[in-house]
Amino acid sequence: MTVPTAYALPLRTRFRGILERQGLVWRGPAGWAEWSPFLDYDGDELVPWLRAADEAAEQGWPAPRRDRVEVNSTVPAVGPEHAHRLATEAGCRTAKVKVAERGQTLADDVARVEAVRDALGPDGRVRVDANGGWSVDEAGRALAALAPFGLEYAEQPCASVEELADLRRRLARSGTDVLVAADESIRRAADPYRVRALEAADVAVLKVQPLGGVRACLEIAERIGLPVVVSSALETSVGIRAGLALAAALPELPFACGLNTVRLLADDLVAAPLVAVDGVLPVGALDVAPEALERHRAPDAVGAFWQARLVQTRARAAAGAGRG
Ligand SMILES: [Mg+2]
Repeated sequence: MTVPTAYALPLRTRFRGILERQGLVWRGPAGWAEWSPFLDYDGDELVPWLRAADEAAEQGWPAPRRDRVEVNSTVPAVGPEHAHRLATEAGCRTAKVKVAERGQTLADDVARVEAVRDALGPDGRVRVDANGGWSVDEAGRALAALAPFGLEYAEQPCASVEELADLRRRLARSGTDVLVAADESIRRAADPYRVRALEAADVAVLKVQPLGGVRACLEIAERIGLPVVVSSALETSVGIRAGLALAAALPELPFACGLNTVRLLADDLVAAPLVAVDGVLPVGALDVAPEALERHRAPDAVGAFWQARLVQTRARAAAGAGRG
């Protein structure tokens, strides 16, 4: 096993409020692993992310059922011209558009979604992601305004599972034909299956790192009883490869996956970055490029923070935290 090395990579555009992605990568007997929990995660929440990295390094992944995975582009909360260009350049048939950004208005969201629909044409698929930014009332209004552009689904329109369930009933009553996908309500929830119990979503978004690895996600997919979309946690290609392993192993894959996010980073740690060509990513071998890792090695203070974070999280994992 190699020593975990901290990286720091700038983003092209602010995303989730961050301008730089950081994490650790290392290589074990089964391959390369990335451990990059966002900085707003803390304590026992970091343990599943570590189990995912250990799975990649030590165990590897279940046998793939497919060798290519269709992916969507991601359009951050930028202006309509920029959004149009991003959706066009990505070359994907599906785009996920960020909405409900703090400091912006519904008019901004409508303009962005309209631009992306225009870029993809009538046969393209457009989904939106609010990251829980709307109240139920706001979501009802926003989705009524966005539905005419033809939405594949709305991801995490409201923050809580109860709100998602309430919103779904409201959409049905008002005849607004938009499916609801749960993301944060699964990956940050003590119980991901409450989404099913409360009939709060039509689609489940699964992310390998926060949910504890590929095998853990396969089990959730089987038990949650909803169609699954595999999405990234904005990793380098090392972490994206784990998402591809999940997408490749799922029995059914009805939607394009949110694994084309390396495009949002200014650079990568591998020689052949996992950036989709014609909307598809290959499921294949991956190797970190030593010169790229050296180029993006985190400053000493950042590296020390990550090594300490790893030591603390290993101790929590050893004490049995984050199980179940
Ligand atoms: Mg999301």
